[in-house]
Amino acid sequence: MHENDISYTFTDTVRKKFIELGFPKATSGQLSKIILPFKVDQVEKKVVARCDNFFYLEQIIKPYQEEIHDIVKKCWGDNFIFEIDNNNEIIDNINPIEVSQPKSNPENKSVEQELHEEETQISKYTFKNFICGESNVDALNACQYITKNAGKFAEPLFIYGQTGVGKTHLLHAIGHELFSKNKNIRIIYVSIHDFINEVIHKGIRLGKMEDVRKKYKLCDVLLVDDMQSLEKKKVCQAEFFHIINAVLQRKKQIILTSNTAPKDFKYIDTRLKSRFLQGVILEINLPTKDDRIAIIQGKLHNIRLNISKEMVDFIASNLKTNVREIEGALNDILFKSVALKNSSKAKENIVHVLKQRLPDVSTLQAKKQNLKFLQKIVCQYFDIEISVLKSTARNKNLTLARHIAIYIAKERLQFKTCEIATAFERKHHKLVSYAVRKVNTLLNTNNEIKQHIELCMSQYEG
Ligand code: ADP
Ligand code: MG
Repeated sequence: MHENDISYTFTDTVRKKFIELGFPKATSGQLSKIILPFKVDQVEKKVVARCDNFFYLEQIIKPYQEEIHDIVKKCWGDNFIFEIDNNNEIIDNINPIEVSQPKSNPENKSVEQELHEEETQISKYTFKNFICGESNVDALNACQYITKNAGKFAEPLFIYGQTGVGKTHLLHAIGHELFSKNKNIRIIYVSIHDFINEVIHKGIRLGKMEDVRKKYKLCDVLLVDDMQSLEKKKVCQAEFFHIINAVLQRKKQIILTSNTAPKDFKYIDTRLKSRFLQGVILEINLPTKDDRIAIIQGKLHNIRLNISKEMVDFIASNLKTNVREIEGALNDILFKSVALKNSSKAKENIVHVLKQRLPDVSTLQAKKQNLKFLQKIVCQYFDIEISVLKSTARNKNLTLARHIAIYIAKERLQFKTCEIATAFERKHHKLVSYAVRKVNTLLNTNNEIKQHIELCMSQYEG
């Protein structure tokens, strides 16, 4: 088949797939046009589509990448992969393939009207869906201020807080809000993992560092997620430093998030750290009980689930971790079709769902594996062997690693003392209580300890 025909079959199949997935016909046509293959690389076996539209990329194309990938395989062959290029670089010697566009299906509404409605419906990570409480009010206000004063406020904003408290949500909300006001604005949202990969693979391996730099330096708004993972990555830190300098020099906005406060970054270039410290730094705390109640009520409203106040209070009292966890529990409750009335049966069902999420009901086996996994993470972090971690050997680094692993297991993951002792091959519990006491004392005086714990936790939680 001629390349044009294959590409046509591809876009048409994608269009049908999106209709099947529940998107309106006009939108599906529009989406299939957006991922029109820009190049088909027969040597590297990849089909590349371009998308510079923040909304489509983050909210529609990325979540359905697997479906699109399957269609690529059907059209070009099993060894082909699908790639999105959201970079405005000029690729030499490649002519975009011209494909006759699938006809969009005109309905009463205009495509723009429909797309707008679609954006509003699908975008989960918007300001409208972000529930404000004591724990996040400062960060939310700052983000909203930035979107209202786009172009006027060019200090970097750094938001930090534990995992699942809404940092990514806020970054996306900024992106959406700015994009809805100005469709030409160049917004880049990137998780630092993707940035690191880009620098290593594209910049270093393929020798296209200038392209990487150019892409970032020319943006109007740079949203970077999960900054903690830039620690210990020297080359990428240097690139990032130059990029943010260039962006700030152009008086463009940078918003960064991280699981740790910038002052606690240890393995990061001091120039970079001082850049972060120059801007506005805000923390999102774990939600208070009132916040959790407000979040649960808001989420229940969104998913149209109706449960009694007493039950809301019960969930809020039991799920004390982060918002992601609360969302998960509410989804369980919804999907398991728990009875919605304020009957004793409904309560039983909700208790059942919650119990599955609370640590003390995990099976012993799963717990053992979790402990092993935690030990592995801590060993990787401190660069030591598991056998040494469990041994009685001592030196400063090793003892600290052992104490931190035990502290996390006991205080953060709520393992029982005897389980931890067994995992560390100890017959008695002395080591566990000593390690917890020791870390608690260190936490009062030494900021680094908190950072070690947060970084290990963030890797443990993935
Ligand atoms: P983080 O990036 O801090 O790890 P996320 O932004 O991924 O956390 O949030 C985890 C989940 O919790 C997301 O689905 C997000 O929409 C939701 N969430 C977090 N905080 C709030 C909030 N205040 N209101 C509504 N949803 C929230
Ligand atoms: Mg996040």
